[in-house]
Formats: sequence, C-alpha cells, structure tokens
Amino acid sequence: MNSSQHVITDPDESFRDHFSAVNEDGKRNWFYPQKPTGKWHTRRFWFTVGILTLLFVTPFIKYNGQPLLLFNVLERKFIIFGIFIGPQDYWLFGLTMLSFMIFVVLFTTIFGRLWCGWACPQTVFMEMVFRKIEYAIEGNATKQKLLNKAPWNAEKILRKMAKYAAFLIVSFLIANLLLSYVLGVDELSKIIREPIADHMSLFGGIIGFTVIFYFNFAWLRDQACTVVCPYGRLQGVLMDRNTINVAYDYQRGEPRGKIHKNQERTEGDCISCHQCVAVCPTGIDIRNGLQMECVNCTACMDACDNIMEKVGFKKGLIRYTSENAIVKKTNKLITPRVIGAMVMLLLLWSVLGFMVVSRTDTQTMLLRAPGSQYIENKDQSITNLYTFKIFNKTNRAIKPVIRLESVKGKLIFAGASLDGNVNLSLNPAGMIEGTVFIVVPANALKKRKTTLTLSVYQGNEKLEDFETTFIAPEQ
Ligand code: SF4
Ligand code: SF4
Repeated sequence: MNSSQHVITDPDESFRDHFSAVNEDGKRNWFYPQKPTGKWHTRRFWFTVGILTLLFVTPFIKYNGQPLLLFNVLERKFIIFGIFIGPQDYWLFGLTMLSFMIFVVLFTTIFGRLWCGWACPQTVFMEMVFRKIEYAIEGNATKQKLLNKAPWNAEKILRKMAKYAAFLIVSFLIANLLLSYVLGVDELSKIIREPIADHMSLFGGIIGFTVIFYFNFAWLRDQACTVVCPYGRLQGVLMDRNTINVAYDYQRGEPRGKIHKNQERTEGDCISCHQCVAVCPTGIDIRNGLQMECVNCTACMDACDNIMEKVGFKKGLIRYTSENAIVKKTNKLITPRVIGAMVMLLLLWSVLGFMVVSRTDTQTMLLRAPGSQYIENKDQSITNLYTFKIFNKTNRAIKPVIRLESVKGKLIFAGASLDGNVNLSLNPAGMIEGTVFIVVPANALKKRKTTLTLSVYQGNEKLEDFETTFIAPEQ
C-alpha cells in the first residue's frame, strides 16, 4: 500500500518496486534499528509498563469467583468482563465479534495504526522487551552488526547464548500468560503444580507456544507485521485522507537537501540525514509516504525531532497527522464513513446491551413428545408427555427446579421418586435432557390447546420463564 497520494521531489521511486524486508538477491534484509530516544519513546515506554502490568495482572482478577476475562477457545467458553458466554450464546458471541470488527474499522479510519504502535502485543513485546534485551546484551545497532560479522569467539558465544536464553525465558512467560487467558490461572497453576504426566497435552501446549513465541521474536520479528498480520494488509481499505498516521510533512520537508554551513538554505526542512530510516524497525523510509510496512511505532518522529532541535528547525517534520492536514492544513475527523460506522456500532451495542440485560441463566426447551396424545386420568386430570433440555448458560453448577406457574398441576419426571421429584443438576455450561409428564386438573383447561407458563428456579431464585403447549379433550 505505498501511497501515491503525494508528489516527492526525489525522483527515485524504486521503493515501490520492492519489499523492504527482502534485498535484491531475494534474501532477507535483517534490520538493525538504532535505539530510539525522545519524548514519544518515553511515552510509549510508560504506556508499555501500564499495558504489561494490566496483561499480567488481569488473569488474577476475579469477579463473582470467575476470571474477569477468559477466552477458552478449546471449550468455546468466554468470559468478557464477568459476562459468561458459553456454547449456547452463539448470537451474543457473533454480535460481540461483529461489533468488535466494526469498532476496529472505525478506530482505524480515524486513528490509523495507533493500535499497532502502542498496544499490539507484537510491537509491545518486540520493541519494548526483546529489542531492549538485545540492546542490553549485544549493544547498539552498530555493535550488533559487528558482532554478527565477527568470528565465533568466546565473547560472541557468550553474548548470543545470554540473549537467546533471555529470549527463551520471556517466550516461556508469554506462553504461560497466553494460556492463563485460555484456561484461567487456577487451571494453569494446577498444570504447573501437578505431575507433568497428568497434563501432557496442556504441557505440550505451553512448550509449543514457547517455541512459537521464541521463533517469532528471535527470527520472524518485523515480518510478523509486514508479511503475516492481516490487519496491516487491510490498512489500504480502512484508511482515508483524513486518517491520523505517523507521516512526513513533505510540504515542509521537500525539496530535501543536506545542510551547508554559512549558506542560505533554499531547500525544505528535511536535511537528508537518514536518521528516520536508521531507527525504523521495519526498514522503510517514511519520506516515501504511507507504507504498509509502517507500524506507527513513532521512532522516526523522535529521531527527526532530535535532528530538528539540533539544526534549529521546528519539530514535527514527521508527526501524527493526516494527508489532508498536510496538503490543506485542515483535517476532518468525523467524515460520513465515520458517522456510518458509529451509527452501526451504536445500534449493535444497543442490541448487545439488551441481550445481556435480558439474558437468563438457563435456556429450557420443553416440547410435547412427538406423536404423543393426552391421557385422561381417573382423578379427572389430564396428562401430556414432554421431552426437555435445559442448558446452563453460566459458568457455575446449577440445581434447577421446574415449576408450573399458570395453572395448578404437577410435573412427574421419568426416573423420579414416588413424589415425582427428581434431582436435576447442571454442570457449568452443561446440558441435561430427559422426559417429563405434566399433569393438570381437567377443570383448569378451558380449550383443546392451552399455553402453559413454567419457570426454572434455583432455590428461591427464578432463573427463567418459558412456555409450552398442553392439549386436552375438547370441552
Ligand atoms: S530524520 Fe528528518 S531530517 Fe533527517 S532525513 Fe528523516 S525526515 Fe529528513
Ligand atoms: S516509518 Fe516510522 S513509525 Fe513507521 S515503522 Fe518506521 S520508524 Fe516506526
């Protein structure tokens, strides 16, 4: 998605013909970005501290005895801010996903890749954890290059071993973090405490994810964003000329040219120092315009600001701005497209809110057994035969009791004790099914088909109301 939206005085447009991560021989370009320093990096550093704290603390936060967030894709159980979404809630799950996607579209249309630069776990871990470990063990970009070219002497072996051991430890931590969101910390700590042989598959999962994260952060790196990530590739359709991005102000910077002492400057503010390129973790030149490889990490903003300060020019030659703001000096954040997405999002959130508020803890289906008729009893009562299914839509065990509400009568469950009672019990997110007779006095039935209202209780707490049809002889 190399933008052709603006004209750059530099006639070299060859960047459009190649992918920054691959060199002319078709081999991988390994990037050695220089350490970024500046106000944006400091802000991102503290933001990362906040995000990582949140990421590592959240699995331990419980609400009503349940994790605040759980994404158990294996058993299709999700808990989002205390709301349990089980296999029965496919509507709720589908609408949540749909509203999430529309939110992503809306957010990206307005703020571009702000997520990528500040909050995406790939960038957060890569730039703020793994890259920092690398700088601490192997030194700055120049030293890293020299070390890689150096023969395998004791120092190189030691530094490489220390770096990759640290990478492995952090990858193991991330794998555990991921599984704490999938299984919950209680389940995870059980796997860690109990013998490995009891949890071979889950232990295999931890090792597998450790290897994947290690491979990602030690080798794949920038290519996770530029080759693998589908979100990066969607930017071209999600952004418009009003989208805020890290951008080079070519109106101010061009024509670019070196600075010469004691000579009146006739060029723009870009002094062709290439510092913005030197710090870029994806190896691109932001001056070429908006590019798919740019993850909006802000490193080039800091690098350029530092240069502008040194040469006495105004900062912000590379800054958060939009194409329209650069060209027309004006920007409109709320465009018709944004309004459309906002309206859709509001509608979806209203529907979701209603579904959450009106949601019941159980979902019961009680239907007359196929082909069955009514039975006239000697005591002037009528019996109908039903099959039932009760789904537990919570993550706790439930002992449901079904009661007739609209007429006097009784339920006799197949396999029940003499008084007609049966011990129903539902596992978390579980389901039970069975057969039940409903017996109603004939004088309570005025017509052939009567709609009965029933309720599901747990103790004195009513969990759900539902209806079924009862048939009787014509009066
Ligand atoms: S850091 Fe700024 S001045 Fe230097 S090349 Fe990049 S845009 Fe131009
Ligand atoms: S162009 Fe700038 S913001 Fe984009 S990835 Fe490179 S350094 Fe980060």
